[in-house]
Amino acid sequence: MAILIDSKLYADYLKKAYERINQEEDYITGLDSATGDGDHWANLNKGYTKLKDKADELAEKSLSDLFKNIGMIMMAEIGGSSGVLYGGANLAAAKAAPDKEAMDLNDLYKVYRAMLDDIQQRGKAERGWKTMIDALAPAVDAMKQAIDEDLEDAEALDLIAKAAVEGAEATKEMEAVRGRATYQKNKGVGHLDPGAVTMAYQIETLCNVIKENL
Ligand code: ADP
Ligand code: MG
Repeated sequence: MAILIDSKLYADYLKKAYERINQEEDYITGLDSATGDGDHWANLNKGYTKLKDKADELAEKSLSDLFKNIGMIMMAEIGGSSGVLYGGANLAAAKAAPDKEAMDLNDLYKVYRAMLDDIQQRGKAERGWKTMIDALAPAVDAMKQAIDEDLEDAEALDLIAKAAVEGAEATKEMEAVRGRATYQKNKGVGHLDPGAVTMAYQIETLCNVIKENL
């Protein structure tokens, strides 16, 4: 009865994240057509299709090899800015992953913090610039808050998921500083950032999968 995430559970999350992303073609493509070039859903869906196909294999790997393989698959399959960012993030996660069977919340925090730091360095973007960072960073903060306040597991997972979803919603009013939305005359104000929305889908799905296995 605790947050314990092994490779098998994470692989299960990859399958569920695939399902979630796969259902949202029209919505996400619509968002990226408003502020970008319309390919974000297709890019991410291609990556997650491969991850879903490889999930049973990934489930057998060490945590570090799991993230390394996810990184390589995402780098190769997704393409666009998000492919490089997700690929690099997961390779950074591989280095931060603990040398044990399963991650507790503290380990998960370290891994996701490493992903966030890598995305920020690679993409040279800050919080508030209308990108995937605006969903990921609040979720990472919420992980830290849950640890510091010693929250109950289910409460912690709800807090993390909510932070990601609200972070994505907040991109609607943000002005883009990086990425294709900067090419828009109004810098994308009034439109959600597609990359933030899909990041929130993934984090919410991860929290739900962990919660179902508490
Ligand atoms: P591309 O913009 O190359 O077509 P995608 O459409 O796959 O790539 O992904 C677009 C998403 O990537 C954006 O919605 C945004 O969230 C994210 N993104 C783009 N550039 C950056 C960056 N420099 N830092 C962080 N996220 C970024
Ligand atoms: Mg695009």
